[in-house]
Amino acid sequence: MLPYKAFAILLPAALIAFGCGKRSMPEPFSPLAEEFVYTSLSLSPVSATAVGYHQHGEASLDRMLDDLSAEGIANQRQFYLGFRDRLAKTVNPDGLTPEDRADYDLIQDQIALNLLEFDEIQSYRHNPTVYVELIGNAMFNPHVLEYAPKAERLRHIIARLERVPAFLDQAKKNLADSPEIWTTVAVEENDGNIGLIDKQIRPTVPPELSADYDRAARPALEALRAFQDYLKKDLVKRAASDWRLGADKYKRKFRYVLATDLTPDQVLANAEADLKAVQARMLELAGPLHEKMYPGQRDRSDANRVISEVLARIADRHSRVESYIPDAKAALQEARDFVRTKGLLALPPRDNLQVIETPEFMRGIYAVGGFMSAPALEPQLGAFYWITPIPRNWDKKRIDSKLREYNFFKLKLLTIHEAMPGHYVQLEYANDIQPKTRRVLRAVFGNGPYVEGWAQYATQMMLDAGFLDNAPEVRLTFQKEELRVLANAILDIRLQTMEMTDQQALDLMEKETFQEHEEAAAKLRRAKLSSCQLPTYLVGWHDWIRVREHYKQAKGGAYKLTEFNEQALKAGALPLPVLARLLTGKPL
Ligand SMILES: [Zn+2]
Repeated sequence: MLPYKAFAILLPAALIAFGCGKRSMPEPFSPLAEEFVYTSLSLSPVSATAVGYHQHGEASLDRMLDDLSAEGIANQRQFYLGFRDRLAKTVNPDGLTPEDRADYDLIQDQIALNLLEFDEIQSYRHNPTVYVELIGNAMFNPHVLEYAPKAERLRHIIARLERVPAFLDQAKKNLADSPEIWTTVAVEENDGNIGLIDKQIRPTVPPELSADYDRAARPALEALRAFQDYLKKDLVKRAASDWRLGADKYKRKFRYVLATDLTPDQVLANAEADLKAVQARMLELAGPLHEKMYPGQRDRSDANRVISEVLARIADRHSRVESYIPDAKAALQEARDFVRTKGLLALPPRDNLQVIETPEFMRGIYAVGGFMSAPALEPQLGAFYWITPIPRNWDKKRIDSKLREYNFFKLKLLTIHEAMPGHYVQLEYANDIQPKTRRVLRAVFGNGPYVEGWAQYATQMMLDAGFLDNAPEVRLTFQKEELRVLANAILDIRLQTMEMTDQQALDLMEKETFQEHEEAAAKLRRAKLSSCQLPTYLVGWHDWIRVREHYKQAKGGAYKLTEFNEQALKAGALPLPVLARLLTGKPL
């Protein structure tokens, strides 16, 4: 998964509504795209810092927080409405070059998604984690991204700290109610923010800035602690709204985020059918392993038991709390060597990847790990593979459950997915896109299924190339992951639109897809915190395979896997049908 939610989708051309009146004089498209990208970033200074956009006209974005006042929200809404109108009046999408047309589609979908958010979903009225995570990112990015000398970045943090009390007042004004689970997570993450400001950043402040830091941090911390009280004593009592998005809004959001012509119902039906097929393939692999692992047992008639027992034996081989992160680092090196030896694709030239603990304020969503790319405009800066450490204060049973889930084999697969050649390699390629406007557009509004689908597809490619000497244990572990990807899609659709209960969700994960309880409980929580993100893995994975087949057909005898991987990554996070069109000139 990725820290910056990639929202975007291709709308089939027929669905894009154009003003039916006369068009004004056509405007060249690239200045419009540029204006859209940088103005929308200026409306979200916290995101702007993350992509390396620091100065918008007179405004020093690194010193600002997003304006979520009633006026600020009205301004944003007006910007998107106005821009949509301008596009309708001045751009003929059919006359654009393929690359411009791809960008045009991304912009249209982003506008539609934002308006759906402002007008109907309205997270800013119901979800306190919006504010908490924004503050966390606002402080964390200047702390870790070395875009300027340290003293200057600390001045940015100080300027942002000064704005925290007013920002939290605004949050309280906006929040009408919140489902209990969102309030609970906001409390935990807000605690992380307090720690970030008080414990993590403070010791790094040089002496000449420490008085300024203290002066800004004191009221900010007071406001954050008061916000904690507000969450625990006030907002928690106003739990009328539902974390479930509901079928109607879900269907629309799904169309903008997933870029697929399938409806949620179709994706659900396919996923439920695939679940049975993958279970059958697992049994084929597990049977011979079971005979070796449990030679005394004769009765292998219960398929689920055979698979579970083999998986249990596989999970016995696992890391320890202290060696968890060093083991992930070793897995990274191993995967890197393998990609190089097999020539799956050229590795990125920059050496900027760091393996670090997931920041505390993000652990609500990133319970396992994640990846944070270098900023699109400053690709020379650090990229981070986050590993969420296992809390030492957990009881033994809980620790064991987590270590067994992220066992020897699974930790390697996680590393392939997040970093090598998964998200890290993918986003390094994306950070070389020219011109810069296109690079930023496809980074900030990139397509989720492209991003997550690549990580799944890349893992499959590693195994197909014989990673870990074709060990059946790693293949079986990956099939279990395939079940997890299917379950992710099923959970999201059933929970958000069909009143699936917690127990049904846990049963699906623990009984049908062999997940340990700790993992299932964390996933259930995540499923309540987001929508239309969990199906991106499945939809994207299938579409990457389809695009590769499409490319293979077009190239015939000249097809080369390495070339496909590199060309597809050089395009950046486009909806996969658009990628297919760009690579071959033919629709998927
Ligand atoms: Zn991912």
